[in-house]
Amino acid sequence: MDLVIEETRQILREYRLCDYCLGRMFASKLRLVSHKNLGEKIRKITKQSKPKSCYLCKNLMPELDTFLNKILDMSKEYEFSTFLIGAILKPSILDRDDIIRSKFKLRGIAGIKSDVTREMGKQFGKKTRTKVDYQNPDIVFTIDFKKDQFDVKPKALFLQGRYTKEARGIPQKQVSCNRCDGKGCFVCDFHGISEFNSVEGHIAKFLFEKFGAQQAKITWIGSEDQSSLVLGNGRPFYVKLINPHKRKIVIPKKVKLGNISVLNLRTVSKIPGDQIKFKTDVLLEITTENDLAPDALNVLEGLKDMPIAISENLPWKNQKRIYDIKIKRLDTKSFAVMMTLDGGIPLKRLVTGNNVEPSISMLLENACKCTTFDFHKIVTSN
Ligand SMILES: [Zn+2]
Ligand SMILES: [Zn+2]
Repeated sequence: MDLVIEETRQILREYRLCDYCLGRMFASKLRLVSHKNLGEKIRKITKQSKPKSCYLCKNLMPELDTFLNKILDMSKEYEFSTFLIGAILKPSILDRDDIIRSKFKLRGIAGIKSDVTREMGKQFGKKTRTKVDYQNPDIVFTIDFKKDQFDVKPKALFLQGRYTKEARGIPQKQVSCNRCDGKGCFVCDFHGISEFNSVEGHIAKFLFEKFGAQQAKITWIGSEDQSSLVLGNGRPFYVKLINPHKRKIVIPKKVKLGNISVLNLRTVSKIPGDQIKFKTDVLLEITTENDLAPDALNVLEGLKDMPIAISENLPWKNQKRIYDIKIKRLDTKSFAVMMTLDGGIPLKRLVTGNNVEPSISMLLENACKCTTFDFHKIVTSN
């Protein structure tokens, strides 16, 4: 302690420091954490008065409360249980901190920047009853002391659910805002989309309202036509919600959004990275160019268990199959097919034969066209 007092006298003769900065210089030497109390103590022992302005931090440390109150205020809009505070300091403060530390050979001690974030984190955690998390915080506050700016960044939230579509004429995907191409701008309220008439639009709008989120990035398990219905247990999808204000919303098991229903929507820890394999039960309505002979459709039974080659896929990926097929004749130029098949087989092209082999047109030796395809069941295998 005597040595510390002597060193302190030396520092204080040259530089006037606040209790925080003074304490920081000696805390690690004395194996203490509370910098302010230590600074106060050292000042009493060395009989020094408090300076009006700290040479090093220009009173940033004693006046941290102002900034703390600001982020406390901002944080009220958000739901979180862990946080992290970051700081950008003026280079002149960092320089003075370095000068004093090297001049008095105090290299091992914490810099002023970590002292600012540590002190604010301690106070903020106490007031909000939340915890600092350096790895994966729910929310990150950054204070730029250089520009007097504040930034809040809540962690993205992941959700998983299914949807059914009970009416035709609703596209699956929403066209991006044409001003910003989906990046987000004032026109689209930073959502990246400005209309909400698709499956994507309905789901996104619901999530924006529920979670106070800015954007919703949806990963679909398979796609459909605007004219397709999605029935049964629905199509699975994942959502990455950007900048959510809320994190703990309980969503009803079934949410009706116009002619779309969202089922079992819940938060998950992440979105699976690999392509998800799935099988679907799909009902196709098909018209033919020429009249169908009475037993012409029987040949289609052969599609069962036959590998389907899709030309743009690499050969090793040609593992797609039809597992079950039921055929119903509707009239001389149309029929319906109910199939269970691997996800990813392009259904319209399976009918026409455009770069898909074998195809329904090829087997029937009759040019066929798929008028509608509806999904009755979608099952994921992982
Ligand atoms: Zn200071
Ligand atoms: Zn926009």
